[in-house]
Amino acid sequence: MSKIHRLSTRLANQIAAGEVVERPASVVKEVLENSLDAGATRVDVEVESGGVKMIRVRDNGYGIAPDDLSLAMARHATSKISSLEDLEAVGSLGFRGEALASIGSVSRLTLTSNALEQGSAGSSAACEGRDMDVVIKPAPHPRGTTVEVRDLFFNTPARRKFLRTEKTEFNHLEEVVKRLALSRFDVAFSLRHNNRTIHQLKAATGQLEQQRRVATVCGPAFMEQAIYIESDRGGEAAHHLKLWGWVGLPTFSRSQADLQYFFVNGRVIRDKLIAHAVKQAYRDVLYHGRHPAFVLYLEVDPAQVDVNVHPTKHEVRFRDGRSVHNFIFSTLHRALAEVRPGTPQPEPL
Ligand code: ADP
Ligand code: MG
Repeated sequence: MSKIHRLSTRLANQIAAGEVVERPASVVKEVLENSLDAGATRVDVEVESGGVKMIRVRDNGYGIAPDDLSLAMARHATSKISSLEDLEAVGSLGFRGEALASIGSVSRLTLTSNALEQGSAGSSAACEGRDMDVVIKPAPHPRGTTVEVRDLFFNTPARRKFLRTEKTEFNHLEEVVKRLALSRFDVAFSLRHNNRTIHQLKAATGQLEQQRRVATVCGPAFMEQAIYIESDRGGEAAHHLKLWGWVGLPTFSRSQADLQYFFVNGRVIRDKLIAHAVKQAYRDVLYHGRHPAFVLYLEVDPAQVDVNVHPTKHEVRFRDGRSVHNFIFSTLHRALAEVRPGTPQPEPL
């Protein structure tokens, strides 16, 4: 047995990276979430070779001050929370301060940013999977941030081996962009792959434009066979619940659960409790083995939900899970019961 020693920063970060950076899609998720947290109204994503070779995300958010650039890449460094109270009512998508440190430890990471502080023209910081000795240089950039991630897993061959084909990696990555585009109608998104434009989504205000975005992202066939629902269980803040969005009619059932989007307070969620409530609501109207399609948004008092359950934050824990389950079930059940066979379907867009 050798003596106990401290891991190097780089190795510690690479181990932590195992939790958050599985593939190019996970990089895109973390980097895009940072752009949204930075108040961006437009986010442009450009990738090469399914994101393995290069991922570049450019936003017009509030940027990072030159003095903060190297800290942004350090582990457990965040501008989003500073106390346990903050954590308990967290409204931002990120808060762990791990993503950039993890990504930087397994790729060639460059941040270029301008927070428009003291007439700054912008600066960049690069780190190459090293022990986080970051080099800061002046670099022109408009207000906002560009994050460039090259050669993912170049220094961790064991992880690189788990990557699939360029096409599969791109599909995963595109799915992440779609999910985030559905989570924030007010933000414009674009996605380019190998110099080809794949998605170009303008900011959508008003229900009609939102509906158009959903149709673009989920396919027009979904929208033609979906109904819009909205249900608000009033009451004081702690008990307030609102569910809205589009649910596919039974005629649009799928052989796979591949068109199911559920957002809790703007965060993409895959949760057993919610999945169960939805499944129950569709039980009487779908054939066995078929899956419903839906894009649903649940709004709940942030103090009533814990998002710090898992590093990727896909899971949540509700204080009063039973009441959330009942609300989702009864809202959907009622809506689906109202569309009986023979009822005219909504007008296509
Ligand atoms: P977290 O998002 O959990 O805070 P990250 O490692 O993802 O941790 O990012 C670290 C910090 O870097 C953030 O708290 C934020 O201050 C800053 N940052 C990262 N990306 C951006 C961005 N696109 N715009 C502005 N600030 C950013
Ligand atoms: Mg983050």
